[in-house]
Amino acid sequence: MHTSDELSVSIGKQSKAFTIIAIVVLICSLIGILTRPLSFFAFFWPANGALLALFIRFPKLNNAGGWLGAFSAYMAADLLTGNHLELTFFLTLANLLNVAASLFFIHYFRINYRNYNKGFTFLYLFSGFAFTGCLASAAFAVFTIPHVPNTFMSADRLWVDFGMWWTGELVNEILVIPLILAMPTWAKVKFVLNERRHKQYPLRHIFPLIAVFACVLMTYLFSGPGALLYPLAALIWAALTYRLFSVALINFAVLLATYHSLNQFYLSESSDAYLSTSISVRIGLCMLSLAPLILCIISQNRHELYKQVLYLANHDSLTHAMTRRYFFQRSELLMQNDLPQPFSIIMMDIDHFKKINDQYGHYIGDLVLQHFAQTIQHNLRRDDLFARIGGEEFVIFMQNIDMSEAQGIAERIRTITENTPISIHGKDPLYITVSIGITHHNMSEQQTLQSLINHADQALYQAKELGRNQVANYS
Ligand code: GH3
Ligand code: MG
Ligand code: MG
Repeated sequence: MHTSDELSVSIGKQSKAFTIIAIVVLICSLIGILTRPLSFFAFFWPANGALLALFIRFPKLNNAGGWLGAFSAYMAADLLTGNHLELTFFLTLANLLNVAASLFFIHYFRINYRNYNKGFTFLYLFSGFAFTGCLASAAFAVFTIPHVPNTFMSADRLWVDFGMWWTGELVNEILVIPLILAMPTWAKVKFVLNERRHKQYPLRHIFPLIAVFACVLMTYLFSGPGALLYPLAALIWAALTYRLFSVALINFAVLLATYHSLNQFYLSESSDAYLSTSISVRIGLCMLSLAPLILCIISQNRHELYKQVLYLANHDSLTHAMTRRYFFQRSELLMQNDLPQPFSIIMMDIDHFKKINDQYGHYIGDLVLQHFAQTIQHNLRRDDLFARIGGEEFVIFMQNIDMSEAQGIAERIRTITENTPISIHGKDPLYITVSIGITHHNMSEQQTLQSLINHADQALYQAKELGRNQVANYS
């Protein structure tokens, strides 16, 4: 590429980062400024957490353009709403220092943000941010801002202001960062919506949310220091029920509401009570919201792991067909159904498979098995059960089907197998055939699954006897 092309690509990237970051930071800062009248510090200042999370999740935005966008937006938001230039400048530096120091921490300890949803990474991330970015910006603020003109901070309340700033940053980051890191991609949203159509969610799925709402309401009705813990049990319930992004959203709402309710309570006592308890309330809230996040991540990971292990236990690793045991378990369950339905059992055995192994080797033999299993999977209905019960022997359980339909499917499998070439790297494509035995159960007599499989096996034996590559019915 020519250097001029490279330059224009780079300028394009920088201006894109500038625009995105500037818009987000401007909106977040304006939201923050709107909440400022409640106290001299912003009640809710989402901009720093949002900027940090964007830089972590989308590293492409972390360039000179992105930083310039952030600087401009912080300055613009404060200047637009009437702050003085010098004060605005130092506030902006404090904000940027937070993000820079936190990013430095992540790079220095090589923390991969993609692991935020594995085990304790959130705990490490937030502990790290607390003692790097949040601490640095609070220290910078208390040493500079009291000395600039038109300041709202005074040098003789250094420790209180430091504590307020530091804990304020902590609360804001824990509110905003999980939301941005766990926000699902568009593809994921589509997948979940699609899944939702097939899946039925029980009504009790909504109970944890109702419980959270009720507990938060209680913090207003029975205010006091204990209110901090009212939502804990409901949050744990929610963390064990919902996905991480939903838990982050619920946390967000709970934290803001509980914070507001406790502030109201202490402000109504006295402004001294408010100041002296604010720092402790904020630290308490951070701990409160960290717990459900970690719990949700760990519970979801365990659930995923359980699903994977279950899948491995129930499916053959080579062909992904069911294992014999799982097939029996599922089929017998269907046979015990209160509403008995006619069903068919189809047994299949690849013809002269030993020759394929002898001629091409075991590896190619395995590929052929995989290919054959795939062909069958593509030709089954949604509820049919398909298992590998021996080396190159497979079985299908088809429920709610009449005899001629089952025969049609068996015949289709046979012709497709015969006519589908299996491509082998560097060699001519390979063709196989399959013999099929089929039995039909029309509920006139009680039979066990094993006896039915034996019947299908006998039919299969017949198909082999009659010259292979054909379908035989048990009679
Ligand atoms: P027929 O037409 O009578 O069924 O002949 P066949 O050669 O297919 O019959 P047989 O059942 O005697 O041979 C099956 C062969 O399948 C024997 C075994 O080496 C091979 N086999 C079993 N499991 C596997 C496997 O997992 N991978 C491979 N590559 N071969 C397997
Ligand atoms: Mg065979
Ligand atoms: Mg065999």
